[in-house]
Amino acid sequence: MSCVMKQLILATLALLLPTLADATLPIVDHRIEAQIDPDQGTIAVRDTLTLPGERTDWTLLLHAGLEPEVVAGEAVITPSGTHGHLQRFRLRLESPTPVTLVYGGRIQHGREQITEGVGRTREWSRGSIEADGVFLDGASAWYPRIPDTLQTFELKVNLPSGWTAVSQGAGPGDPARGASTWTETHPQDDIYLIAGPFTPYHQAGPATEAQVYLRQPDPALAQRYLDATQAYIKLYSDLIGPYPFAKFALVENFWETGYGMPSFTLLGTRVIRLPFILNTSYPHEILHNWWGNSVYIETSGGNWSEGLTNYLADHLMREQAGEGWVYRREMLKRYADYVAEQADFPISAFRGRHNEASQAIGYGKSAMFFHMLRRQLGDETFTAGLRRFYADQRFSSAGFADLRHAFEQVSGRDLGDFFAIWTERVGAPGLSLGEVRVIPHGRGVLLTGRLEQTLTTAPFPLLVPVLVHQEQGPPLTLNVRLEAAEADFSLALDSAPLRIAVDPWFDVFRALHPGETPVTLSNLFGAERGLILYPARAPESLQRGYRQLAMSWQQGHPGWEVERDDRLTALPQDRPVWLLGWENRWLEHFAARTQGVQIEPAQRRLQLTGAAPLDGRAISPVLTAGDVQQPLGWLAVDDPAAIAGLARKLPHYGKYSYLTFTGSAPDNQIKGEWAAGDSQLVRWLGPRRELPPLTEPPALVP
Ligand SMILES: [Zn+2]
Repeated sequence: MSCVMKQLILATLALLLPTLADATLPIVDHRIEAQIDPDQGTIAVRDTLTLPGERTDWTLLLHAGLEPEVVAGEAVITPSGTHGHLQRFRLRLESPTPVTLVYGGRIQHGREQITEGVGRTREWSRGSIEADGVFLDGASAWYPRIPDTLQTFELKVNLPSGWTAVSQGAGPGDPARGASTWTETHPQDDIYLIAGPFTPYHQAGPATEAQVYLRQPDPALAQRYLDATQAYIKLYSDLIGPYPFAKFALVENFWETGYGMPSFTLLGTRVIRLPFILNTSYPHEILHNWWGNSVYIETSGGNWSEGLTNYLADHLMREQAGEGWVYRREMLKRYADYVAEQADFPISAFRGRHNEASQAIGYGKSAMFFHMLRRQLGDETFTAGLRRFYADQRFSSAGFADLRHAFEQVSGRDLGDFFAIWTERVGAPGLSLGEVRVIPHGRGVLLTGRLEQTLTTAPFPLLVPVLVHQEQGPPLTLNVRLEAAEADFSLALDSAPLRIAVDPWFDVFRALHPGETPVTLSNLFGAERGLILYPARAPESLQRGYRQLAMSWQQGHPGWEVERDDRLTALPQDRPVWLLGWENRWLEHFAARTQGVQIEPAQRRLQLTGAAPLDGRAISPVLTAGDVQQPLGWLAVDDPAAIAGLARKLPHYGKYSYLTFTGSAPDNQIKGEWAAGDSQLVRWLGPRRELPPLTEPPALVP
């Protein structure tokens, strides 16, 4: 989930005007009074604008058909062109007094589908006033949008009885008396107008007020969000600096979204009720009030805010659960699986997520960049840098150069190379462990070894943890600075070394080795070419369903072929293969390449290692097999009605190795990953033995 709106708006406006240097954007103040008729889909607005400075000539954008007129102030407005649903105007001031515009009309755009990869779509709208609700933002241009400015505002919205409007800042005034009012005095890069027949909930807190707006009364659900809001705002205020707005609101949208706006989040009805949202997307959206919604993203530079928000929300939650290493390994795997060489770009070129590859870079690699920076500087200095960056850049636009400046200030280190290489270069280095020697040294031994970067370009600046288990005593960690193609390390030990593991917690952004990560669905969904085989022996209705699933996954992926299983004499060895159906004649070959899974096609029975047998008439299994070089997938259903849902849902389960579903929806029941083995980054120097489970270094916030 993410805040996609801002990127789309920026993209729309970028087409219209070149972006100025945005260090000191002028601030336009709006005093808006709006009247909304949801049934008619119309809005009528009176907006008094105060424009800064001596400039007399302004360009503004407004939704087409709103026909603005100057009713107060000395100014002339004239149309100067159109761009899609937007109309451009020239506003000439004859004196520097405020100007009042009056305009109105209909804004109603349907939802548009955006495709983001195999089977993944989401919806957005250019803005709409409907009987169900109102969604208006800068891209709708429901207020006079002046490119390359920020805005402060006072907004009064008149609505039918029972309706409430939500926007940024302080509010909602007294909606019961017919009008919602919102005020924001900190400069904003957009003004949102969301409205609906909401039941409101409020809870005062030490840092801000928590608010919830639901479309149906549900006090228990509201309370969970009010409590979570207070907890997360305290967490991030303590970590980064004071929360910058008068409230934070959860607002229920009238279609499925996961948007983060300044001081509120707009989530769909289904999304709000997913239990895991409170620990995943919700902290992410709240944290965007620091990164993105109060420190803005410099439009001319890279979008650093998704990586930093991912790092301090999604990653931190997992780190607090002792699973930071799992999350980092997932990010490395996504990059390996989805970012082909020609699709790669540096994180400084990330603007917004539009598919798996851009997400793996802009969210994943970028989060790893911040993680490596933290490991370079230490937790205390890293946190001080975050605080400095926030204090210096609040309510202005910032880029990677400003981040670098803040971290240099607090650390006293020159981070020029580190930032330049990690933010401006593509690719990921490989790591390998060279010769390792153990020689007598005083009463103990000296362990020496060599780390190497395997590279296609110049070396990356790396700090690589090397974990050493000894025959006796606790394991030791050595941090090896690897800034050239290779670096030697040595460590004096009291006891003989037993095992060396390089980067055991996946602290370094790098290529993964076979064995470090199990095969999962993303190995199949991320592949550019492959084969999907549907079963000739299946009954007609099943065969048709499987074919449709295969065709829908193939769409837009010309490297994938769909074939009936009896048209082959052998399974290809050189590309991923999906097998469909219990009836698939290649199922035996698949079973032979699993890690001890028992599949009995005749009995429709399945048994995962160490688990009870599963009845294939009651569940739909989805399994992977093989290795990351040639991943295999198998899915089978008993009821053809389950196929369409699987086709849609599975691309969202890329990080899992095996799953089962029930019913025709179908609903996920079991999910998990095969165990990873040792890789060439692990070397045993003594007899193998069971080691106690390892805990990674402490979380940034315990
Ligand atoms: Zn985000």
